[in-house]
Parts: sequence; C-alpha cells; structure tokens
Amino acid sequence: MTVALGIPRTLSVQGAPTTGGLLDTFGRQATDMRLSLIDKCNLRCTYCMPADGMDWLSKAKLMNADEIVRLVGIGVDQLQVRELRLTGGEPLVRMDLEHIIAGIRAAHPDLPVSLTTNAVGLDKRAAGLRAAGLTRINVSLDSLHAETFADLTRRPFLDRVLRGIDAAAEAGLGPIKINAVLLKGINDHEAPDLVQWAVAKGYELRFIEQMPLDEDHTWTRDNMITAGEIRARLEQRFALRPDPRERAGAPADRWEVRALGADPASAPDGIIGIIASVTEPFCADCTRTRVTADGKIRSCLFSHDEVPLLQLMRLGASDAEIAQRWREAMWVKPKAHGMDHAGLGDEHYVQPERSMSAIGG
Ligand code: SAM
Repeated sequence: MTVALGIPRTLSVQGAPTTGGLLDTFGRQATDMRLSLIDKCNLRCTYCMPADGMDWLSKAKLMNADEIVRLVGIGVDQLQVRELRLTGGEPLVRMDLEHIIAGIRAAHPDLPVSLTTNAVGLDKRAAGLRAAGLTRINVSLDSLHAETFADLTRRPFLDRVLRGIDAAAEAGLGPIKINAVLLKGINDHEAPDLVQWAVAKGYELRFIEQMPLDEDHTWTRDNMITAGEIRARLEQRFALRPDPRERAGAPADRWEVRALGADPASAPDGIIGIIASVTEPFCADCTRTRVTADGKIRSCLFSHDEVPLLQLMRLGASDAEIAQRWREAMWVKPKAHGMDHAGLGDEHYVQPERSMSAIGG
C-alpha cells in the first residue's frame, strides 16, 4: 500500500500502539536508544571485523548530522526515549561528532548522552566533546599489553587508547566504563589484571561475553569464555559480591569487588559488570532500540529485520509518520535473541547479516 507523499508502507503492524512509547508484544518498553553514527572503524578487532575487505556505507547513505538530530528528537519527544548511546563502527571517525552532539544537546538539555568508543584520538577531542554536551563514555579495552592489544585489534594503538581514557577522565566524561571481551588463550588470563587496573583508576570494568556477530563467522561456543568462567577466574584474586543496586534493564550483572578476606561490610574497592548475552541472556528486561548508521531500526542486536526510517525521512515523511513506523518496528521485537534455546550445537541460531561493527555495538 502507498500513502500520501509516495512513502512506501507496509500495512500497519497489527495491534501496534499509535501513541506513546516503544512497546512490544511481550510488555517491554524500549527507552534506551543505541544509535550508530558510522560503520567504519580504525581498529580491526578479530572478534568483530575481518583484517580487510569490508564494504563501507557511502557518505550519501549515512545519516547526516541534521537527520541524526531529527531522529533523536522523534525518539525523545514522541516515543519516550530517555537515554542515548552513540556508537559505531567507531564514532570518533566522524569528524562532525562534536557538531552532532551539540545539536542533540541544544534540543534536549537533560538527555543523558553517552559514547561507546575505542578512544583512539580521544586525547585530542575529549574536552571538545564534553563542551559539546557529551555526558560520559564507555571505552573498549581488551588488553593492557601492547603486543596482545596489537594482535587482537590488528593495530598497535594501546598507548593512544590509554591517553584517550586519561583525557576523558580529565575532561569530566565519567563515570567511565571500560568494555572488555575475553578470548580463550589470547587475553583471558588478563581478566584479574584488567580489574585491578580499572579499580585503581576508579573505572567500572564490564566483561562482555563474545557473541556470534563477527564478520569472519569464527565464533564457537566452545571457544568463548563464559560469564561463569570469568567469575571463577576473578574469584582467585578478589572477593565478589552481587551489587545490591537494582539492575533495572541494565545489560551488566554487577559485582562489588574487594580484596580476598576483606570485611564484606566494608566499602567495596570497585564495581565490575559482566554482560552475559550468550549464557545468561537478559532479553526479558531489554530496554533497547537500535538505529544503524544508515537509519534503520533494529529491535534486537540479533535481528534479521530492519525498518528503514532514513529512507522515509528522505521521502518527506512527517515526524508523526516516522514515529509510527518506529513503534511498529519495535512492536514485533522477538521475545529472545534465539541463542539461548539453541543448545550447544547452536544449529537453530542464524547469525545476522550485519556484523557488530555494522550494527552498532
Ligand atoms: N568502536 C567502538 C568501540 O570499540 O567501543 C564502538 C563499536 S564496538 C562494535 C562496541 C562494542 O562491541 C565494543 O566494546 C566491542 O568490544 C564489542 N564487540 C564487538 N564485537 C563483539 C562480539 N562479537 N562479541 C561481543 N562484543 C563485541
């Protein structure tokens, strides 16, 4: 069916609400918007991207700054989005990042806006990003050893990342969270050292289970480090106790960290998180709606379906029409991502066509 303005439309999704927020048929509401700014990255993490040979989106296909600001506005003003995370690819690769953030901030003075980044080049931009209105950052860092870092990311940039994190702390972009993915036989032995470092610096370290979203399709369940294994490894050096604060849709299972033998009633030395998307999925509490850098809605990281909002926008759709397509896209969000019931053979799990870097992690 085609409606006014020549905007291509499917029949409206049965039962989807026509007002209010981003609900789905399982009673969840998405209030946390993850928006990818670009699919390109300046690292090539082995568990995410191939060494080379990625086809990048052309500049014309990427949302421009005005389109991004408008889409965020629709999310916040019409769909009850309450939190925004900018990601990629690598968002710092976009030279107009400060301009994008300033535009969002001007329209939404109180919106929490965070950035997921590898921090390469952040040392020169942290203060400017803060001035533009960025609230805080998450930095990905899988190893504190230059050689392992270079093997894992295929780029010798550890020093640059550490400088970027320091600059972010100095610019007031905290609380800083550090994301680490552990790979068997590569950096898994570093887990306690990463915790020690993060706790000493006052950062919250979050281990993310490796997910089957790599472009090379090399993930296997046998080869991944599970949340249970991470906890066991950390408990050889630290006492972990569940963080009593409510999880409230957060992906990370949080733990207080103390020295072995420390009084459990004493203040913890720090907090860590474990994001167990594969072995302890949290789909029932998911509050996320994802937008790719070419303006498509994905209701789940593992979706096979996308709804192209940028295309609608460029055809002249109104904010109300775009909001309604967004509601419909989220209404059919699957109950779960499909790996949890697949069993060890994972024969029922079909990896999405886009890899993590092209979805926006
Ligand atoms: N370039 C930015 C960065 O490095 O944080 C943002 C994009 S990156 C895709 C976002 C996060 O996804 C990173 O923390 C990265 O480690 C994580 N990631 C990428 N591929 C993954 C996979 N297969 N399994 C788990 N996490 C992955």
